[in-house]
Amino acid sequence: MVFDLDMIKKVYERMPARVAAARKAVNRPLTLTEKILYAHLWQGDANETYGRGTSYVDFAPDRVAMQDATAQMALLQFMQAGRSQVAVPSTVHCDHLIQAKIGAEADLATAVDKNKEVYDFLASVSNKYGIGFWKAGAGIIHQVVLENYAFPGGMMIGTDSHTPNAGGLGMIAIGVGGADACDVMAGLPWELKFPKLIGVKLTGKLSGWSSPKDVILKVAGILTVKGGTDHIVEYFGEGARSLSATGKGTICNMGAEIGATTSIFGYDDKIATYLKGTGRADVAALADGIAAHLTGDDEVYANPAQYFDQVIEINLSELEPHINGPFTPDLAWPLSKFAQAVKENGWPAKLEVGLIGSCTNSSYEDISRSASLAKQAVDKKLKAKAEFTITPGSEQVRYTVERDGFLDTFADMGGVVLANACGPCIGQWARHGAEKGEKNSIITSFNRNFAKRADGNPNTHAFVASPEIVTAFAIAGDLTFNPVTDTLINEAGQAVKLDEPQGYEMPAKGFAVEDAGYQAPAANGSKVQVLVDPKSERLQLLDPFAAWEGTDLSGLKLLIKAKGKCTTDHISMAGPWLRYRGHLDNISNNLLIGAINAFNDTANSVKNQLTGSYGEVPATQRAYKAAGIGSIVVGDENYGEGSSREHAAMEPRHLGVRAILVKSFARIHETNLKKQGMLALTFANKADYDKIREDDHFSITGLTSFTPGQPLTVVAHHADGSSDAIVVNHSYNQQQIEWFQAGGALNIIRRSFAG
Ligand code: SF4
Repeated sequence: MVFDLDMIKKVYERMPARVAAARKAVNRPLTLTEKILYAHLWQGDANETYGRGTSYVDFAPDRVAMQDATAQMALLQFMQAGRSQVAVPSTVHCDHLIQAKIGAEADLATAVDKNKEVYDFLASVSNKYGIGFWKAGAGIIHQVVLENYAFPGGMMIGTDSHTPNAGGLGMIAIGVGGADACDVMAGLPWELKFPKLIGVKLTGKLSGWSSPKDVILKVAGILTVKGGTDHIVEYFGEGARSLSATGKGTICNMGAEIGATTSIFGYDDKIATYLKGTGRADVAALADGIAAHLTGDDEVYANPAQYFDQVIEINLSELEPHINGPFTPDLAWPLSKFAQAVKENGWPAKLEVGLIGSCTNSSYEDISRSASLAKQAVDKKLKAKAEFTITPGSEQVRYTVERDGFLDTFADMGGVVLANACGPCIGQWARHGAEKGEKNSIITSFNRNFAKRADGNPNTHAFVASPEIVTAFAIAGDLTFNPVTDTLINEAGQAVKLDEPQGYEMPAKGFAVEDAGYQAPAANGSKVQVLVDPKSERLQLLDPFAAWEGTDLSGLKLLIKAKGKCTTDHISMAGPWLRYRGHLDNISNNLLIGAINAFNDTANSVKNQLTGSYGEVPATQRAYKAAGIGSIVVGDENYGEGSSREHAAMEPRHLGVRAILVKSFARIHETNLKKQGMLALTFANKADYDKIREDDHFSITGLTSFTPGQPLTVVAHHADGSSDAIVVNHSYNQQQIEWFQAGGALNIIRRSFAG
């Protein structure tokens, strides 16, 4: 047993009282989303109502899940907290670093060799701090979580954007950056903007070629890639109850593509069946005991428009299979209109590769339905015209579908089984010939299809559909084929038609696995050594940042006055730099290299005030650091928007930047800066941005009486001897001021454990 039944019991014990208190506080029936959120308030009972889309609220998640790429910095930081164990049950999953090239076995062996230092670090740090470790080949984070950890009514954060997959089992599961995961593992609250709510009422029942994937492909077409931002999507209705638990997971998973905070279904018989079938009958029994709290109130679902901010209704009985793309997941085409769209838009009709699987669509149901088509292809003497690959979501699914003969069926059709990992879905695909950049089409059952994502070729037209449709298209090798109406010519020259796919929600003989790939942590990890090679380029243990010196600051140089958009990607670029995400000093060589210098309109070229010459931003800042001189960064509006990336806050801190002074911040980045012990300041008068000159040096005063709500002063000393005293605001509360004084939030936690 790898899940934590005691933790689930505690959640269920407190849930009825919390829900009752919340219902009383808001004085109306509650949605499922609200019940779970109120049951996880950091402060306990809800004694006030929170503004949807406006209030920032502290929560206490039950679990943390991390994938191997993002876990590295999260765990290096966690080590700074001084705890002997993580504060909540947590797991690490080695899935993102495995490149698909030849096939499962060879690719896995190559990855284990290439990523040895990362895997050794993650395995040892997990072992030491009580974290469950899923080694390379065990499966993709979200499928493994669904099979082992997700539970109705729970709350989880995960360092990956498709964490919402667990909503299929009725859990609020949200993708976050590594800094948030570190905080929750260290025992800090987790802050979330209280979401708005979209209700999706599902009526009718799926049949024929339609599948759960088509529900989210349709929803993506309605809401577009931005329509779910700051919203949680709650599915309900008889149609919702008719979908398998894994089908629900598919829908929640791809909710990330509409920007939703997360998506969720209420607890029902299908979820109970899946829990029982995956060795968690005791979780199902506990959930049955509080079932009324694990779904929305009847009044809400009877009058959804009254309780949700937006309501969508979809009749599953009328839902056609959809194909979304190319280049964006919200360009939704019903199957009956797709062939025409391909022709009218001049997309390459010849299909090169069909790829099924990934965390989105690799359930037993998905694989069995696709295999039913593969079997027909073999029986009807059809040879697959396109290449075809299968990425199982977990070793448990892979082992079970192999036992039940489905992998042999795919092999008969010419399919290649890839490792139980992300592979092509995250661009870890050494696709033969992709470097030539030829215009071509592929179709996948994954979730994302932005340009270059799968194979790095900007001319690959990637489409997204259900595994059934992907399989049918791979057999036909043609995107203008409609399996519902069209025939194919087989090797005997006969016209044959594919019958509707058939599958099984759960394996008749149950799931099985020989080695699931799980390593339990040591009961007492105090003697376990965390393995990091001091000469490693990819990993570096962190030293705690220094505490504030207790005085006002002076003599700070201007590092850069950034102009216009400055996202976390401008501050800490991704791409090849991700290789160094576990090595703070090495990745700091990308600090602000994408930001535009307001004085010369050029990226990565700033004046070094010590020499008067222009140089790269990281090199210039390293020169200041070597001279023992601090600096400030000045920025424009919404500084630090984009994905939450802790490196964007850690790098300036590591290289000796003392303050970031901007017209406005993106909230998450502002908080990340505070956590690292940086000063995050805003111009009280935005026009003062124009007073900053290239040769300025700065003092920051008011720090010895740093108080919530009280502005500070930044004095810009100009080269001509004049100066401007600039009033700057901040949003630090008392606790955050303590973070600044201690040199970072983790320093405070470490202090509390040292005593
Ligand atoms: S399979 Fe794709 S979407 Fe799923 S976790 Fe991996 S990279 Fe992300």
